[in-house]
Amino acid sequence: MKDYLLVDTVDKTLTPSEVLEREISPAGHALSVDVEDWYNAAVLALGRRVIPPTEAVVRNTERLLLLFAEMRVQATWFFLGEVADSFPGLVRRVAEAGHELGAHGYHHHRLQELDPAGFRRSLGRAKDVIEQAGGQRVRGHRAVAFSMGRETWWAMEALAELGFDYDSSVFPFRGVRYGMSGAPLSPYPVRTRRGTLWEVPLSVVRWAGLRIPACGGGYLRHFPLAFTRAALRCLERERRRAVVYLHPYELDVDYDAGYLRQWLPAVSHRRLRWLRWTQYRRRAGTIPKLRRLLAEFSFGTLAAMLGTGRVNPTPSVPLPRAPEGGSSGPTLSTF
Ligand SMILES: [Zn+2]
Repeated sequence: MKDYLLVDTVDKTLTPSEVLEREISPAGHALSVDVEDWYNAAVLALGRRVIPPTEAVVRNTERLLLLFAEMRVQATWFFLGEVADSFPGLVRRVAEAGHELGAHGYHHHRLQELDPAGFRRSLGRAKDVIEQAGGQRVRGHRAVAFSMGRETWWAMEALAELGFDYDSSVFPFRGVRYGMSGAPLSPYPVRTRRGTLWEVPLSVVRWAGLRIPACGGGYLRHFPLAFTRAALRCLERERRRAVVYLHPYELDVDYDAGYLRQWLPAVSHRRLRWLRWTQYRRRAGTIPKLRRLLAEFSFGTLAAMLGTGRVNPTPSVPLPRAPEGGSSGPTLSTF
């Protein structure tokens, strides 16, 4: 489809050396947390569900906060709006500890499950709730389940319209459930009719012609520490920086099947057991691994990685109107 062009990886406002300078800034790698409850990722496979957040998200987020304070590291916390609405004090405590606040949508729904108007509305609501609770402008967004891709690129325009400076949702590899093969591996500007924002892709390492996801969530949990460490070293050799991500629930080895059963009475026990296995495997090792990585490598927020005052100054590029409903994706000719 050649209806409009949202992506231009060559931003005329930046010279190559300026882009490289971002890559080797002393801010180091980026550390990010998607703040959602223990069941959110597990029930994604069951369709569009809304289950109220529990105290577990507070308990686990506070454990991470303590760990980061101990290791003297700051991170970007992408809150679900529903978590911020239920536990505004948690958002405030994260902000007061000097971290950056970001948004992870209002409910835990993938972009494919929303239309452009619904996405704009729910993300705007999430942004307002998080900003009011934390007293800090929200600059960054992470799509649920890395669902930003060719089919959902329309969401970039909504992000620019809502005043986001960057998105960090594209996993540039060919995945089964997510991924955008061929997408750039380093941060790049995305131009939309509503303004320009940055995409800060999740980290992959290149090996034998393949792109292998690394440095976060299940990859951090399932793979040995040596793999993540080697991936970070590899990125540093290429003068790239990692975007490490994790979830508060990855610290929690408890599993409240009774709570899920209340909200999902029709789901079989077998299905719940399978979800539990995929989501809960090797949780006990998360904190020790994380502590080693935080001690060995330099980490900071995504905003620090991008630098301040340089984002979103580019005037909007006039482009033809996108088709209603966003069903037609932009041309990604530069990928
Ligand atoms: Zn999530």
